[in-house]
Amino acid sequence: MNRWQAIAGMGLCVGLAGCAGTSRDTLYQVSTIDALLAGTYDGDVSLNALRRHGDFGIGTYDNLDGEMILLDGTFHQVKADGKVYAPDLRGETPFAGVCSFRPEKSFGWTERVDMAGLQRRIDREAPNPNLFCAIRVDGRFKTMRTRSVPPQQRPFPPLKEIAASQPTFDMADVAGTIVGFRCPAFVAGVNVPGYHLHFLSRNRSQGGHILAFELETGTAQVDVLDRFTMQLPETEDFAAVDLAQDRQQDLHGVEKEKAKR
Ligand SMILES: [Zn+2]
Repeated sequence: MNRWQAIAGMGLCVGLAGCAGTSRDTLYQVSTIDALLAGTYDGDVSLNALRRHGDFGIGTYDNLDGEMILLDGTFHQVKADGKVYAPDLRGETPFAGVCSFRPEKSFGWTERVDMAGLQRRIDREAPNPNLFCAIRVDGRFKTMRTRSVPPQQRPFPPLKEIAASQPTFDMADVAGTIVGFRCPAFVAGVNVPGYHLHFLSRNRSQGGHILAFELETGTAQVDVLDRFTMQLPETEDFAAVDLAQDRQQDLHGVEKEKAKR
């Protein structure tokens, strides 16, 4: 095969891969986590548009108005009052990650496990740390601690300032679903390395960004994702935000459980 035939062949392979479907085993992401940390809360991708890229995922809403849970194709919005709302699908998101959830593996717990224990088990069941992993856990929780964030007005403060006074919610003996992702270490700056999980109660009345929990019994389903697509905002805010800084310290303060209030 001469050089030109090889190049033509490569083009054909790329073309076929493209035809295989854009959403299967793909994490589709809007914007970057560092842009969100820096206060880029004005989105330009509608929920209707996001929905075309998956039926499962997490994120936030325009102006940082609460936590997003996309489950079985339905968007849920956990606002700062801790309640769950049905968002307007014409509304937009400044940061989200979604996929078409087609789990390859399922496993369960019959003994109580905390967040660290659950993550260790998922790491054993889906051992490749360099691929993305979509995670769904349906179960009954002895405790569930979440947070949400209130909507912001311009000039937008950085997320760490908002997180310092974020409302948190403590639930007990609640049934519901964990929705989230495990991302590889190499996404630092782009998404959240490691686990990022949201919760929605089975009766659709409570939820949020998970800080801690104890699972009583439950079943996990995991979908390993080997493709990653990003949609970057074409907004003035995104054009102006400084994404050269290392914001890993900020991220840790914002996403994880902090010292007790
Ligand atoms: Zn979150």
